[in-house]
Amino acid sequence: MQHEINAESLMSEQLALERKNLSFDIERLGEYYYGGKEQYAEMKRLYKALAEDPILRHDPNYTGLSRADRMVESYKRTARLHQIVNIIDGETNSKVLSLLPDIPNANLHGIMFVPTLINLGAKAQIEKFLPDSLSLRILGCYAQTEIGHGSDIQSLETTATYDPETEEFVLHSPTITSIKFWPGELGLTANCAAVYAKLIVKGECHGVQVFIVPIRDLDTHKVLPGLEVGDIGAKFGYATKDNGFLRFHHYRIPRENMLSKYASVSKTGEFKQKGNPKIAYATMMKVRLFLVCYSSYGLGLAATIATRYSIVRKQFRGSDGKERPILDYELQMNKVISQIATSYAMSVAGRKVKNMFMTMMDNIQTKNDFSLMMDLHGLLSGCKACFTWDTLSGMEILRQSCGGHGYLESSGFTNLIQHAAAKVTLEGDNTVMLLQMGRYLIKSLQRATQGKKIDDNVAYLEHAHELMQEQCPAKSKDDFDNLELVLRVMQVSAASMLISTTNEMLKYAEAGIPPKEIFDVKTGLLIFDASKAHTYCFTFKSFMESLKEADEETRKVLKKLCLLYGINKLLENAIGLAESGYFAKEHFAMLKAKKSDLLASLRPDAIGLVDAMAFEDSGLKSALGRYDGNVYETLYEWASKANPLNKEDPNPGFMKYMKPIMGKNVYTPKL
Ligand SMILES: Cc1cc2nc3c(=O)[nH]c(=O)nc-3n(C[C@H](O)[C@H](O)[C@H](O)COP(=O)(O)OP(=O)(O)OC[C@H]3O[C@@H](n4cnc5c(N)ncnc54)[C@H](O)[C@@H]3O)c2cc1C
Repeated sequence: MQHEINAESLMSEQLALERKNLSFDIERLGEYYYGGKEQYAEMKRLYKALAEDPILRHDPNYTGLSRADRMVESYKRTARLHQIVNIIDGETNSKVLSLLPDIPNANLHGIMFVPTLINLGAKAQIEKFLPDSLSLRILGCYAQTEIGHGSDIQSLETTATYDPETEEFVLHSPTITSIKFWPGELGLTANCAAVYAKLIVKGECHGVQVFIVPIRDLDTHKVLPGLEVGDIGAKFGYATKDNGFLRFHHYRIPRENMLSKYASVSKTGEFKQKGNPKIAYATMMKVRLFLVCYSSYGLGLAATIATRYSIVRKQFRGSDGKERPILDYELQMNKVISQIATSYAMSVAGRKVKNMFMTMMDNIQTKNDFSLMMDLHGLLSGCKACFTWDTLSGMEILRQSCGGHGYLESSGFTNLIQHAAAKVTLEGDNTVMLLQMGRYLIKSLQRATQGKKIDDNVAYLEHAHELMQEQCPAKSKDDFDNLELVLRVMQVSAASMLISTTNEMLKYAEAGIPPKEIFDVKTGLLIFDASKAHTYCFTFKSFMESLKEADEETRKVLKKLCLLYGINKLLENAIGLAESGYFAKEHFAMLKAKKSDLLASLRPDAIGLVDAMAFEDSGLKSALGRYDGNVYETLYEWASKANPLNKEDPNPGFMKYMKPIMGKNVYTPKL
């Protein structure tokens, strides 16, 4: 086989040229993207350490492995990762996820099991289980979902029946639908599980509680008697994540294994509940927080690949007779630069939600004050849904923006998209999440109407009805250069959708339809759109308010990104504006024209916007996204040398099955 390449590296000159002419300093922008100087330095250290590590760095041969071989490799990588970073820390875990070809196999332990123990465990339980969990002697998973129910947690069927004679809980899977199904790392890796099961004491059900359940012997790693455990099989992605099943056959655990900071059962079988029972789902909120905080990085990786490729890739000639980089086309700018803007917007809003979450957890832990839980639950649900959806759809747009090469696994998009696809479902199906946000918005609007105090993130609802009387003051597209005006438009749009939703609900209520029925089958579409509009409004406002953190030069380019994000969201979800009467027909044309100007003015800075994210080539895992732009050499190298199908030629399967039939008979087809 021939591996010679006619190396023509003009493309990197184009990148070098564009890098010289940026309107801002990359370091300052990177600091903004990651939330500060220290955070930026930390991320760069992390990216570099992974890129330079002989075991963890990208290997183009890796993707050709079978699932079973990949699993072994993944354990090797997880063990190595454990030596470099603290994989028990959920946040560190979330930061490195997109950079590795596969998610580490102790990720759920750090992201879900340990936080569940810490959040819900009584002091004695934490003292008992935490040291072994931190040393990884105990490797846990989070076992909530069953075959029959995921979203509807109250309908989980696994039972934990208290036996006062032996002071034990008896865990049982009474039906096929009650078998635990999906928990990550349950199949092969975990030796322990935080199991969500219905607590039955003296024949009475006390709702879903959480139990620490040993599932494998700590020394031999063999499954314990009374349990059936295994991997659920190949999935859409997540090849090395051993999502598992777990079936209980009257399996006994000690009374001390029910996590009892907020709910407990005494020796004699008295049940006690303290605080808000919803705290049992605090771990899910925390994971949603990670998804909200770090979705931006996944989209940033994809945008880095597409931006660099779109500058290197040339198609068709301009009026000067020279071939043009595809990023010079307005439609390509829209695909690529819009995703960059979304990544920046999500990174900032994610930080804001994180600060609010920290305050909530602090209030709960130090003062037993759960008052912020409703706001955070609503906000996290909306942001989880919109951010993971925008990440997935943005990645797909970016993949397509790379044409045919985008469809190659070596483009780097396969893994990114597969991971992103899982995130729209795990930790709460996105539709269900937006409905939860909708409930919160409806309550907030009701509270505002009654003159009660509502959280800052929904404060504009205090004037929702007045907003409906306003008319947009813009006279030309340049009036939309004003961030405050764009925010106002977004608030009008969101308030308008929410008001029409509640009006519809009222009509149905007057017709005698029960509230649950109205919510479930009559107004889902309306609530869904209103929730999206509010989430985008919140994200835009967070972005806009954070611009003051940047220096003047950086702020200029960030303002353009912020406007582009807001205008994109308004144009994508224009129903509220159309319905409210706030916008005249020409305002839509002004928004479109402003968007066109923004794209053109951001185009020369595109490469700097993604370079600032500082992803290493090894983390991008992409032949198209290389920093130096040597796309074609790498594509050919990986296709020809790092491709297991080219290792043996002629192919043994071809020789065994095809060769014997070739040139022998002309068959008459039977069908
Ligand atoms: C990769 C991956 C990893 C996972 N890891 C874990 C884990 O570690 N531990 C764990 O316990 N679980 C895990 N899960 C399970 C996950 O949490 C659930 O799959 C998720 O919460 C969705 O629930 P469901 O499967 O019951 O979907 P369903 O609720 O059955 O959804 C099916 C459809 O019905 C719609 N729907 C449902 N209810 C409503 C409603 N009220 N109104 C309108 N539409 C509705 C949904 O929008 C969706 O379109 C994982 C799942 C995946 C895919």
